[in-house]
Amino acid sequence: MGTRPRRQTVMNPSSALPSDLAADTSWYAASAPPAPPHPRLSGEHRVDVAILGAGYTGLSAALELAGRGYRVAVVEATRVGGGASGRNGGQLITGFNPPFTTLAARHGVAEARALFELAEAGKTLLRERIARHAIACDLSWGFASAALKPRQLRAMAAEAALLHRFGYDALTPWSAAELRAVVRSERYIGAWYDAGSGHLHPLNYARGLARAAVGAGALLFERSPVVALEPGKRPALVTADGRLAADAVLLCGNADLVQGLPRLAPRLTRRIMPVASGMIATAPLGPAGLAEHLARNIAVADANHILDYFRGTPDGRLLFGGLARYDGRAPRDLAGALRRRLARVFPRLAAVPIEHHWSGLVAITRDRLPYLGRLAPNILFALGYSGHGVILAGLAGTLLGEAVSGTLERFDRLARLRHQPFPGGPLKTPILVAAMLYYRLRDML
Ligand SMILES: Cc1cc2nc3c(=O)[nH]c(=O)nc-3n(C[C@H](O)[C@H](O)[C@H](O)COP(=O)(O)OP(=O)(O)OC[C@H]3O[C@@H](n4cnc5c(N)ncnc54)[C@H](O)[C@@H]3O)c2cc1C
Repeated sequence: MGTRPRRQTVMNPSSALPSDLAADTSWYAASAPPAPPHPRLSGEHRVDVAILGAGYTGLSAALELAGRGYRVAVVEATRVGGGASGRNGGQLITGFNPPFTTLAARHGVAEARALFELAEAGKTLLRERIARHAIACDLSWGFASAALKPRQLRAMAAEAALLHRFGYDALTPWSAAELRAVVRSERYIGAWYDAGSGHLHPLNYARGLARAAVGAGALLFERSPVVALEPGKRPALVTADGRLAADAVLLCGNADLVQGLPRLAPRLTRRIMPVASGMIATAPLGPAGLAEHLARNIAVADANHILDYFRGTPDGRLLFGGLARYDGRAPRDLAGALRRRLARVFPRLAAVPIEHHWSGLVAITRDRLPYLGRLAPNILFALGYSGHGVILAGLAGTLLGEAVSGTLERFDRLARLRHQPFPGGPLKTPILVAAMLYYRLRDML
């Protein structure tokens, strides 16, 4: 046996724990059925593919690879869905973070169309997996993108025209009156309704993917923070008590990996900004009470950079999210800050009891497109969906699986996108705080 390759990084295991995840105070955790625990990683293990992170990316890769007959194991610092996948807005949004008009200007119309088709394939994959594995996650379709300013409506109309050219006909313009018949708020001047976007219960979806992956033969280890990555011919993920060697390693740790182990993969750390964001859940308003504010079971998001988004729950609550802290820290007085934003949309809810509040990290890239690639021929990664990961992370995990098994076409379409580092090196925070002020200002104009 040769000497073991040098570890990429070794840290105190506790410092590798993703921040702010110890107690999951989300409505999702409160409303999800109990999930079976999985063991910690201990001792030496050997598989074909070792995956770091049990969010949509890692679980989707595990499902794909186990289905293709690979021996796969996923190592998760907390629990399945303990990162963004179990605590997000649950909004399934067509496309990527940048509008296709922007992508067409940057990359040409043909490439924008190819990216659109890839994103749509992600939507189909999500829909099929939920059906095939009978994942009970309240999947519903219907989404309104609400405008606060005329320039936002103009941009939405241009986007709809381009998507129409791509063959996407699910978009309908809503006047202010049409929108108000559904979203009972004076805040917006109109919207575009997308019948091909929607929402789901994100934690139940993550747990359903985990169940499917385990059913297909994948191993899952929880409460096992990876503290080191050993590169080499047989790369390995190392935890405090165990070591998982494989032919290939997939890094699917998203923002928590970058924030918890910034030195593990500096290339990722420089290109990913973990942005803290939060959500609240009101007390149940009752079906009639909810309908007084949101008359249909759709998801809504406004068109600001630092956006508000909301939807109802089956038990009649309003889930409301927003805020962005570019220094990656949980927003202070999260519940209070979100309540004030909620009251700007629905003034009559200004005093409603807030029963749950929670935060999570959104991983964003500079150009807001996902970041896929290789750190070494046998160490692949996918992250940075920039707020669109409910669909795109499931797709990216599948593309990682395809790449491991030698089908590179779809993986390469995303992996060849060039990603610029954020300015400011490791001390990027002051620049990022300035960026946050910049976006706030843009939203006000
Ligand atoms: C508040 C919020 C709202 C959002 N709303 C939406 C939305 O409405 N629609 C949408 O499309 N997207 C939304 N997103 C983004 C979306 O949730 C993510 O893009 C998606 O979940 C990413 O999935 P992932 O598997 O790549 O990452 P994650 O779900 O973050 O999974 C990564 C996993 O890796 C684990 N990990 C990290 N480091 C280590 C380590 N050292 N050892 C072992 N495990 C480790 C983490 O614990 C975590 O479980 C939102 C995100 C947040 C935070």
